[in-house]
Amino acid sequence: MQNTLMEDRQLSSTPKFSAKYVPFNADSNSTESYHLDEIIYRSTSGGLLDVQHDMEALKKFDGKYWRSLFDSRAGKNTWPYGSGVWSKKEWVLPEIHCVDIVSTFEGNSNLFWARRFGKQVVGMNDLWVKNCGVSHTGSFKDLGMTVLVSQVNRLRRLNKPVVAVGCASTGDTSAALSAYCAMAGIPCIVFLPANKISMAQLVQPIANGAFVLSMDTDFDGCMQLIREVTAELPIYLANSMNSLRLEGQKTAAIEILQQFDWQVPDWVIVPGGNLGNIYAFYKGFHMCKELGLVDKIPRLVCAQAANANPLYLYFKSGWKDYKAVKAKTTFASAIQIGDPVSIDRAAYALMNSNGIVEEATEEELMDASAQADSMGMFTCPHTGVALAALIKLRKKGVIAPNDKTVVVSTAHGLKFTQSKTDYHSKQIADMACRYANSPVQVKADLKSVMEALSNFLQQHSKS
Ligand SMILES: *Cc1c(COP(=O)(O)O)cnc(C)c1O
Repeated sequence: MQNTLMEDRQLSSTPKFSAKYVPFNADSNSTESYHLDEIIYRSTSGGLLDVQHDMEALKKFDGKYWRSLFDSRAGKNTWPYGSGVWSKKEWVLPEIHCVDIVSTFEGNSNLFWARRFGKQVVGMNDLWVKNCGVSHTGSFKDLGMTVLVSQVNRLRRLNKPVVAVGCASTGDTSAALSAYCAMAGIPCIVFLPANKISMAQLVQPIANGAFVLSMDTDFDGCMQLIREVTAELPIYLANSMNSLRLEGQKTAAIEILQQFDWQVPDWVIVPGGNLGNIYAFYKGFHMCKELGLVDKIPRLVCAQAANANPLYLYFKSGWKDYKAVKAKTTFASAIQIGDPVSIDRAAYALMNSNGIVEEATEEELMDASAQADSMGMFTCPHTGVALAALIKLRKKGVIAPNDKTVVVSTAHGLKFTQSKTDYHSKQIADMACRYANSPVQVKADLKSVMEALSNFLQQHSKS
């Protein structure tokens, strides 16, 4: 507590940083803007909003100042700067009081050298994985939810009409939202399609004490209903249109630079569905360049499942022809989205980073994930999409052997045990499951065990 007050006082003696909502990619003579304490999700024209920081105030300090400030806070325990998100508070929500922040000290996820996969699968020596799924609720969604729920906490203290926070989601969003709401004691409402989600997806909001409404429709039906409900009732909408979440997510990009001692990688590959995260990465990198922490930004790759690939098709048309698609089922369930909310944000991010879009079939993503797992990486299917994209871009010669490349892992593999189990027992229709590793059934006597082992050891010595 004492620490918090001290930090607050220190900050208030430095120049005032601020941020506001503006229409996303507004033309330069637009004057539309909103205070962050307003409850608003869309611009007057119905478009997306963006959180815009007072860059002139931030620019009063040079890149060296910011680098050493961020470095001095990383991984420490001082509230709230020990969080990977709040260690960049001045760039995230500069005006929120530290006491309003709701945090699990998310972020600071490991960035590891994928040495064996790099060498054996893609012939690379500088391949890295940013492990964003090693997080409180098992996905990068925590980085955004700490910001959204902290701001809601502030709004409630300011007596704004927010009785609860709600979202429609089948998986990671509801897990993260319900956890942060539970931390702060804010009522959380989750709309879920009945019988369409697994126990693993259901268990987090239930355990976190959310009010879970299960209804006889699909995800889009739930989304439609929660939008109508939040228009009528003082329930704050936490869906992915909300631009606050991206402010937290962008810190993963800043963290990558920080972990490389402010060296800029050549490529960063991000799996994309609703397409907020790819923009968040762009925003984080771009801010570091604009404020002089680094002198360039990496080329971004957005990786999509071929079964839900509207951004890929848009890219292939030379950014001329966008059409929503009907998303087909994919093992990468968090990116099974045919009409992404943040399509314009993603196109902007890719065009401004000399970026590209690649896609992966179900077999490609499951094989890539299984291969990575067999090298100790235990990936989720979305990370499989990013790795499959990497494999294809290496084959095409787009990414070179010595390019410093980061694959963003978005969720923990343990959230997706069912698809892994199906793969390894070859229970997936029309899939060879080339890297399946099934357990060997053996009688419980020494002779049988020795036989099985001698087979195994012989194979091993040959390979
Ligand atoms: C939400 C999510 C994504 C997709 O992020 P977008 O911002 O919607 O593109 C990818 N992977 C996982 C595990 C997710 O939970």
